[in-house]
Amino acid sequence: MSLTVSNTPICLFCDNTQTHSTPFEDTVFNNKTFEYVQCTNCDLIFVQPLPTMDDITKMYPVEYQGALAGNAYGAYDFLFDRIKTIGTYKTILDYGCGGGRFVVEAVEKGFEVTGTEYNPDLVANLTKTFPKATFLTIDDFYKSDKKYDIIFLSNVLEHLTNPKEIMLKLKERLSENGIFALEGPIENNFNLTQITRKIMFWVRKNIFNKKASHVPTHILYSNRKNQEELFKNIGLETLYFNIEESNWPFPSNYKDCDTMMKKVMYFIATFSVKMSKVFSFWGNNFTYIGKKK
Ligand SMILES: [Zn+2]
Repeated sequence: MSLTVSNTPICLFCDNTQTHSTPFEDTVFNNKTFEYVQCTNCDLIFVQPLPTMDDITKMYPVEYQGALAGNAYGAYDFLFDRIKTIGTYKTILDYGCGGGRFVVEAVEKGFEVTGTEYNPDLVANLTKTFPKATFLTIDDFYKSDKKYDIIFLSNVLEHLTNPKEIMLKLKERLSENGIFALEGPIENNFNLTQITRKIMFWVRKNIFNKKASHVPTHILYSNRKNQEELFKNIGLETLYFNIEESNWPFPSNYKDCDTMMKKVMYFIATFSVKMSKVFSFWGNNFTYIGKKK
């Protein structure tokens, strides 16, 4: 496979080619510097250059996934209840199913479930551990043309270098009245934790001239507006779009805060979570349900 590397950043959501810098520090990974730039049109923040296949292989070693899911415990009851108000569905595709957390819940609810993942070893483990579901590698998934009533993606879009292209491909795999259900972070959406982080990063980047050394697994940081617009632009109609907030990436447990800095971060995040319950635009996670127009 040959890869063409373009030096002009192209927005992963709206294809605009104009960007400006952000408070986020550059990060060094795999002997390369990745910069976070922001689209002047839709405000999406994304890394430049985009990771190559070599970077991506190194980003996700086999250990990345961690332990597989345990038994179903109702973690997605809220989503299934919401889906029930929209229609009756039989088959579900969990694109990027990870350790099978959603798959076990969906099987428990009586759905015919297919999970996909990149790593063939992970797919083999999932197949062995959860015999009531079907698991495919992403490669095998694209070799088939089977359609699904519900296509679910949890914490997937922010890892993709081509989110729009993948969503369009998946749209082709929705059955006639099928729906998308997605959830994930909106890391550049308004909340107090996000503002605090931006100030911290800005100071480190501009005053102390620092670079970060985290693995840029999150290729993009969206907000509530550009996230929903991406879905609209690929021809989806919103049936449900909700913003919530969790303490992440700040500490969620006071007992774990062993420094003053962490304690302050904990209080900021906890206050911000409270505010997110008052203001619907405030938060750092989204849940979306949509269908083809
Ligand atoms: Zn854009």
